[in-house]
Amino acid sequence: MEFTRALAHELKTPLTPVVMSSETLVGQLKDDENLLRVARNIQKAAKNLDGRIDELLDLARGEVGMLKLRREPVDVLALLREVVEEEAPVSARLGLAVAARLPAALPPVQADKVRLRQIVLNLLSNAFKHTLEGGRVTVSARQESVSVIIEVSDTGIGITKKEQERIFDPYHRVDNDRQKLSGLGLGLALCKTLVELHGGRIWVKSRRGKGSAFGFSIPIEGPGGE
Ligand code: ADP
Repeated sequence: MEFTRALAHELKTPLTPVVMSSETLVGQLKDDENLLRVARNIQKAAKNLDGRIDELLDLARGEVGMLKLRREPVDVLALLREVVEEEAPVSARLGLAVAARLPAALPPVQADKVRLRQIVLNLLSNAFKHTLEGGRVTVSARQESVSVIIEVSDTGIGITKKEQERIFDPYHRVDNDRQKLSGLGLGLALCKTLVELHGGRIWVKSRRGKGSAFGFSIPIEGPGGE
């Protein structure tokens, strides 16, 4: 893990100027459609890589107990509405419908807002990736005894029973997905680490060809109810 952390730092340092320079380029190339497209590609790839390295770093920190949460009372409904609104253009581009199905009220939960948003975004982006055009992605939330449950469901390709067992393991990716090199298989492992740091649980319900629903719980009063 020490090696992973060192490697992630080494990779991030030279990447920072690539991200910054590509941003400047995109800002400057307004008049040249072709070059702008190229600059956007560089920017997107650099940001993507930067995000993957962050995931790797977070996971490595999580494994050695160095990932710390900053807990505060979080309005889950406001957070979910915000995320869905932000992601609506992405889903529209993909030809997917995204909707929030939320109750009128939920109690504030003791959580790390940035990390909570990260979990939901990760599940949403997975749902978008594995749902065909014309499909639907739904974000829902409800209170269940001392926890708030958040669920991201899709009408996508689904996951077999066998794959569901290992899907939260680090570096695990579904077989037919591997050649597409879509990611390192860290997203769900990191979601699990973050949910468990909050004292919650994460699970998946899915049927191949029908769709998937990823759900997780966050104890309202924090881990152990402190
Ligand atoms: P990656 O970053 O490589 O996508 P993840 O940990 O996020 O890794 O996901 C692991 C695997 O789980 C992926 O390879 C993908 O095949 C599968 N998966 C995740 N979310 C979904 C979903 N909503 N529908 C179908 N398959 C999914």
